[in-house]
Amino acid sequence: MFTDFFFPDRCLNCNTIIAANVFVCEICISQIKFTTDSFESENIVKEKCKSLFPVENAFALMEFQKEGLSRELMHNLKYKGRENIGNLFAEWTIERLHFKEKPDLIITVPLHKRKQKKRGYNQLQLYADNISKHYAISYDKDIMRRNFHTKAQALKVFSKRVVTKNLFSLNKSISGKHVLLIDDVFTTGNTMSTMAWEILKNKNNKISVLVMANDEG
Ligand SMILES: [Zn+2]
Repeated sequence: MFTDFFFPDRCLNCNTIIAANVFVCEICISQIKFTTDSFESENIVKEKCKSLFPVENAFALMEFQKEGLSRELMHNLKYKGRENIGNLFAEWTIERLHFKEKPDLIITVPLHKRKQKKRGYNQLQLYADNISKHYAISYDKDIMRRNFHTKAQALKVFSKRVVTKNLFSLNKSISGKHVLLIDDVFTTGNTMSTMAWEILKNKNNKISVLVMANDEG
């Protein structure tokens, strides 16, 4: 990939020269606050989800640190073209995430078409591809559509209730699925909740949640 060539392989935190597509040196990895969550047990993300929609299980890979390396990595993944950080996050997730009850369909939070075109990629796609392959869970990239460019823009025109109600729609109906919703940073859970309710319109579906980082604010 062009980006592999373009960016020097240096630790994003301390600038030490490192191997290609590693992004962080061995020493700096220890600064990342990985959660001790397990998928089927109670944890912070699951608690937050529970107050918004019926959720089976949830897992967050790390705690989002506003001044820390997790923010730096996330920023690079989302805004600096370093799509391959998705592979790294997946690798870290696979080392830590174990399913007793495995979901059967992965759906990622979609970007609006215009936004994805501008960015050139959806930052969740490589991550979800890896998770899908490793755990043998099918991943439907196109099933969920985002109807507004950004929530903030839409809010200027519509009331919040109307916006969140129509923010996402499914391109085809699904039934009898245990869906694993994937997002990058989990904050209030509002985005996840809106997607979940779209899927839960069919009462035979179940929802679990996987996020790269949980932001406690
Ligand atoms: Zn370093």
